[in-house]
Amino acid sequence: MNIIMLGPPGAGKGTQAEVLSKKMDLTTLSTGNILRAAIAEQRPVGLNAKSYMDKGELVPDDVIIGIVKDYLETHDLGKGCILDGVPRTIAQAEMLDKMGVQIDAVLSLEISDEAIEERMGGRRTCMKCGATYHVKANPPKVEGICDKCGEKLTIRQDDKPETVRQRLAVYHAQTEPIIGYYTAQGKLKAVDGTASVEETSEKLVKALEMMQ
Ligand code: AMP
Repeated sequence: MNIIMLGPPGAGKGTQAEVLSKKMDLTTLSTGNILRAAIAEQRPVGLNAKSYMDKGELVPDDVIIGIVKDYLETHDLGKGCILDGVPRTIAQAEMLDKMGVQIDAVLSLEISDEAIEERMGGRRTCMKCGATYHVKANPPKVEGICDKCGEKLTIRQDDKPETVRQRLAVYHAQTEPIIGYYTAQGKLKAVDGTASVEETSEKLVKALEMMQ
């Protein structure tokens, strides 16, 4: 079963992808985490992407398509995969179809721009393993330290308020049209993304059960 997590930046896609992948024994493909790891390791693909990411813009489709191809060639998807943060444009959605990636469900987390801007101030990220936390809603066990790998948590460059506003504008202009694309295919399920992490994951699991 392959599932797309859709929603604006900060809606909880990464957190919920993690919860669902554990619950359902699925792998996770996060293009954002792959790009951040490439930046940390100073690989050309990361250094090329960094200028777009820092400005809150999308990385060009051909770069993302390359990353997805590479991932599919080097990973066994097992029971299936949760796609977190990809596709983000209609061209990327069409590319997945062309590559024969069967999408079973698209979960769209709904949350207002105002709520996102408020949330992003508290987000902390582990640049080593990609785990995300929130100082209030989803704090790490030890303040400022990743539960999973012990790395120091940081505030992402692109989580700064002005960049968040730009990312929201980009989401509405370039990513939101995907909702129509998957609604037409009968695969879209919208879920309220404003509740707690636990409540939201319960809603997502229920939404998936209803679609089967
Ligand atoms: P994320 O961690 O998913 O919020 O992604 C962080 C940033 O990485 C985005 O703001 C984009 O600049 C870039 N990015 C990640 N995934 C994609 C994608 N599928 N298409 C284009 N840019 C992406």
